[in-house]
Amino acid sequence: MNIIVCVKQVPDTLEVNVNEDTNTLIREGVDGVINPFDLYAIEEGLRLREQYGGIVTALSMGPGQAIATLREALSIGVDNAVLLTDVLFAGADTLATSYALAKGVEKIGHFDLVICGRQAIDGDTAQVGPALAERLGVPHVSCVIRVCEVTDGCIITERMTEEGTEQIKLSLPALITLPKGINEPRFPSLKGKIGAIRSEIAVWGAQSIAADASKIGLKGSPTRVIKISTPEHHRQAEMLEGTVAEQVTALLSKLRQAEIL
Ligand SMILES: Cc1cc2nc3c(=O)[nH]c(=O)nc-3n(C[C@H](O)[C@H](O)[C@H](O)COP(=O)(O)OP(=O)(O)OC[C@H]3O[C@@H](n4cnc5c(N)ncnc54)[C@H](O)[C@@H]3O)c2cc1C
Repeated sequence: MNIIVCVKQVPDTLEVNVNEDTNTLIREGVDGVINPFDLYAIEEGLRLREQYGGIVTALSMGPGQAIATLREALSIGVDNAVLLTDVLFAGADTLATSYALAKGVEKIGHFDLVICGRQAIDGDTAQVGPALAERLGVPHVSCVIRVCEVTDGCIITERMTEEGTEQIKLSLPALITLPKGINEPRFPSLKGKIGAIRSEIAVWGAQSIAADASKIGLKGSPTRVIKISTPEHHRQAEMLEGTVAEQVTALLSKLRQAEIL
């Protein structure tokens, strides 16, 4: 099986600054880590490779420093890694990101399965996986909690619904997105870490993936983030006096006054 795992680098901190002109996160100079959901995607890719053979390629779009994330993916065990990086990709929303990733997948060539995390912990939209599947023209299932089997050119998956679970059979090539907890991601081995230092990572810009400049980066992003700010929390504490019964009565009356009850 040829498997492509989409891996996003996310900031390793909650203290990120915002570019006030573009309302995007300033990622340059901030330490990055693999989006935690994508660790499960890598692990699932490696397990499928172990069971059915094939290769696993990690694909990321981001600033140059995202190469560290791909080196980590290589140290965990993926076979190849590709970074899409170019100033023209900067400020991409999910529509532009899915377009660039689809062009990257096309350039990688034949694939059976694309695996994404369910969501990125910074952008948090959970849109890129399904959008990428649409771009590639392949079926997809989001929030897969178990990959049951790959057989006869199909993959059988189980996904969580509000009522319970459902089994969905998809013809390959296909795309799935994974939540946390579907497996237990392995740690990189020392051998893996040494191998990753020596591995070549393909670095492709907009031109090398033949991307239409009007569909990438800020230009290709119809989403406009008007303002990003940290919500202010106002808390007021009030101590109730009296016996337990009096305190309960006072509490109920306050909740009714505030129209909470
Ligand atoms: C130069 C440059 C600067 C960027 N600056 C920002 C920025 O400031 N803020 C920001 O949020 N994003 C930035 N990006 C990345 C891109 O814009 C976002 O990845 C995109 O909007 C995804 O939205 P999301 O985080 O909601 O992903 P979700 O839809 O929540 O992600 C779901 C899954 O899709 C896959 N995925 C998502 N994004 C990527 C990616 N970039 N590469 C590989 N796989 C991916 C992962 O498997 C992830 O688990 C930048 C990219 C470049 C090239």
